[in-house]
Amino acid sequence: MINYLYQEQNWQTQLSDLITDPAELLERLELSTEQLLSGGLLASEQFKLRVPRAFVEKIVKADPYDPLLLQVLPHHLELLEHPNFVTDPLGEEQANHLPGILHKYQSRFLLTLTGACAVHCRYCFRRHFPYQENLPKSDDWVNIKHYIESQAAINEVILSGGDPLTLSNRKLKLWIERLETIDQLKYLRIHSRVPIVIPNRIDEELISLFKTSRLRIILVVHSNHSNELDDFTCTKINALVKENITVLNQSVLLKGVNDSVKAITDLSYRLFDAGIMPYYLHVLDKVKGAAHFDLQAEEIDQIYTDVLANLPGYLVPKLVREIAGEKNKTPLYGVSTY
Ligand SMILES: *Cc1c(COP(=O)(O)O)cnc(C)c1O
Ligand code: SF4
Repeated sequence: MINYLYQEQNWQTQLSDLITDPAELLERLELSTEQLLSGGLLASEQFKLRVPRAFVEKIVKADPYDPLLLQVLPHHLELLEHPNFVTDPLGEEQANHLPGILHKYQSRFLLTLTGACAVHCRYCFRRHFPYQENLPKSDDWVNIKHYIESQAAINEVILSGGDPLTLSNRKLKLWIERLETIDQLKYLRIHSRVPIVIPNRIDEELISLFKTSRLRIILVVHSNHSNELDDFTCTKINALVKENITVLNQSVLLKGVNDSVKAITDLSYRLFDAGIMPYYLHVLDKVKGAAHFDLQAEEIDQIYTDVLANLPGYLVPKLVREIAGEKNKTPLYGVSTY
């Protein structure tokens, strides 16, 4: 098999040539298709396998427990019913004020411009969210603008997903220019996993778009394991850091993927080497189909206690949960002890 030259291929081509067939993924990784029992195929029908080849390159071959593989391979355990794991664990359908807007916190809100992601993460809390009914059309812009102007506390818009970096630079530019016309806005945050799974997404046009904006841009990438951050990926992301873009990382604590002090510690150091600051470590949202990634409270506590002891304070991600109806993400460690 020839090596896949993802470093040279442009991101648009990579995005249109994702692996969506579980058998192809397993073959490429030298795993037998028996690894994927029929339940895994069924799980894939509910939430399709979707993974860029550049990400597959980072998966260790012939290891069915590879921490990157576990995040993307449909698994029959997703089909088991668990009473506490539901389709809308965060009550997002209620915070949905206008098409595309999810406003739960005072100074900032999420704006969803696309329902598409480059990768389908099996633990994702949005796996059941009805995106396609909820995207703003071009003429919804006027209403969005009025909405922002009616709430003086808003100073930041967060482009979220779906994944906003699956959009073309042209479309991103259009929306950034629209947001720039609203004086009260100072910050534009972009939540994206694309730089991790298709590092070439950080192209010259995107860098220049971020660099020239009136808004201060904060890119929050999403990486769960240091194996996702090979040298090429780090170099690409660091190109933004060099242009004074703030780059942060959020992770989800996942059983079998990064549920050890070593995994979280290695990840934080690796991020820092690339100029990325650890931001959040989320505990799993209890979404239907993801129960097999869940950890016991005592396990989480033990890992985080060790992480605190191992890392300098500036590299410790904040352990949080999002609780429906709360005004912010809820810190989870040691908060009731003073
Ligand atoms: C996480 C989240 C935000 C951003 O929260 P920060 O704590 O500022 O990172 C905003 N809105 C919603 C609905 C969120 O879930
Ligand atoms: S929204 Fe983020 S976590 Fe969810 S599937 Fe898309 S990239 Fe993965």
